[in-house]
Amino acid sequence: MRKKIIAGNWKMNKTFQEAEELISDLLKHLEAHSLEDDKEILICPPSPYLELATDLAQGRKLKVGAQNVNANDFGAYTGEISAPMLKSMEVNYCIVGHSERRKYYHETDESVADKINALLKNEIIAVYCCGETLEERESNKQFDVVGKQIEKALSHLTSEQLKQIVIAYEPVWAIGTGKNASPEQAQEMHAYIRKQISGKFSKDAAEEMSILYGGSCNSKNAKSLFSNPDVDGGLIGGASLDADEFFKIVKSMD
Ligand code: PEP
Repeated sequence: MRKKIIAGNWKMNKTFQEAEELISDLLKHLEAHSLEDDKEILICPPSPYLELATDLAQGRKLKVGAQNVNANDFGAYTGEISAPMLKSMEVNYCIVGHSERRKYYHETDESVADKINALLKNEIIAVYCCGETLEERESNKQFDVVGKQIEKALSHLTSEQLKQIVIAYEPVWAIGTGKNASPEQAQEMHAYIRKQISGKFSKDAAEEMSILYGGSCNSKNAKSLFSNPDVDGGLIGGASLDADEFFKIVKSMD
């Protein structure tokens, strides 16, 4: 079943106390909100707060994701966190391939493919981020760029494994800039991604795949973005840091 997902990427924000307050406020909103089985609400706080988040979210309408994972199960990788560690904290999802990690930590689709494998082994859903830069869009290379990213990071998977993957289309020029993709641009790229998945895997795999939009999505533009047939929700950065604003985005899926 294809799911509609609203995921909050907190990035490196909030103190422990602020995180606790934000999660509690969000849970209060979600308590009174009815959520169909095909919808999922997810927060991805910084890793020191993952256990707090999974504890607070237990038995509630909220899932928890990490923002990064190391491809190795354990060992001498100071500062890193592994998929078995995430699993032991009952983390359900993990973002991989975010453009900030590609830019600042030199992640590539090859290293992201290894992270995806580690997550799959531990039954954690990978939220695979892809998207073109402004320069690439201005030279009309966006489809080529995103097509190649998907090919490199996902083509080694089986159709069965692909069910454990969510794709987030996040044009780099839209992230944190206040300049979101238009609903038409988002729909066009999401339809392209679904077609790619259909061609490389199967029509069924493509139909089941949740493809999220990310990049300056907020409560004002969410409805027009999510009302497109191939946009199955959003990966929300800045606007996920405020419980009221994030909840408004959640409601725009209704
Ligand atoms: C993100 O970083 O995943 C993101 C979508 O950020 P923002 O919503 O702040 O543009």
